[in-house]
Amino acid sequence: MLRLIGLSKSYKAGDKALSDVSLDVPKSQIVGLIGPSGAGKSTLIRCINRLVEPTEGEIRLGEVDLVKLGTAELRQARRRIGMIFQEYALVERLTVMENVLSGRLGYVPFWRSWMRCYPPQDIRRAYELLDRVGLMEHADKRADALSGGQRQRGGIARVLAQEPELLRVDEPTASPDPNTSRQIMRLLTEICAERGLPAIVNIHDVPLAQQFMQRIVGLRAGRVVFDGAPDALTESA
Ligand code: ADP
Ligand code: ADP
Repeated sequence: MLRLIGLSKSYKAGDKALSDVSLDVPKSQIVGLIGPSGAGKSTLIRCINRLVEPTEGEIRLGEVDLVKLGTAELRQARRRIGMIFQEYALVERLTVMENVLSGRLGYVPFWRSWMRCYPPQDIRRAYELLDRVGLMEHADKRADALSGGQRQRGGIARVLAQEPELLRVDEPTASPDPNTSRQIMRLLTEICAERGLPAIVNIHDVPLAQQFMQRIVGLRAGRVVFDGAPDALTESA
């Protein structure tokens, strides 16, 4: 589970982008993060893997306080914190399969014969993930030959190959096609339930957040102003 305790961030003296945010996200739960532009959503998502260094507070993933980790340990820990982006989910010049394997390797291979020297169980595992996200028949296509929705699903498989303990998802509903957005949200919900993964989703679209999230956290000016079930969300939040 993920536990944020008293998390604050000031980019410059004075202004607080995040102010004393405390939040527990248990296993399997997806939390939708909503709030107006500038509320601190990206800062929160980036603090979790210390892409942005928090000014104060604790970030507990299981037993570990990520804030206390040194550079080498943090590098290891980051592999357990998946990030799913709406765009740039895959390396375009690689096949879908190569992309998923690179998630597992932790780097992008630049030679082409590498699949043969990679452990068969990892290749099998990558195929399982491609099957799970519905991309089996596209495994050997170059990523740039896929549709936007397929690319997003490939991005999910790639991140899952890292065997994360936590997912962060940026704007899954920013797709121009609402059907694609719904499918991606459904897939993410199922995957978190299957794997017991906690997830934080930076979600722009409030109606979709209400439809798919078990829980919504509303930020405003760096503070949590709402935390509850989607149907309890009112105009005030
Ligand atoms: P949101 O994702 O909800 O739009 P952000 O986390 O991007 O909000 O921004 C929260 C606040 O922090 C805003 O006031 C923004 O201007 C400020 N901010 C964000 N990133 C930086 C940065 N790199 N340097 C200085 N201020 C920043
Ligand atoms: P490593 O090469 O050890 O994986 P990185 O710092 O490149 O280390 O990436 C670690 C994790 O941080 C990745 O799993 C990725 O999801 C996340 N990450 C990398 N870049 C960004 C970014 N711009 N915004 C948010 N998360 C990122």
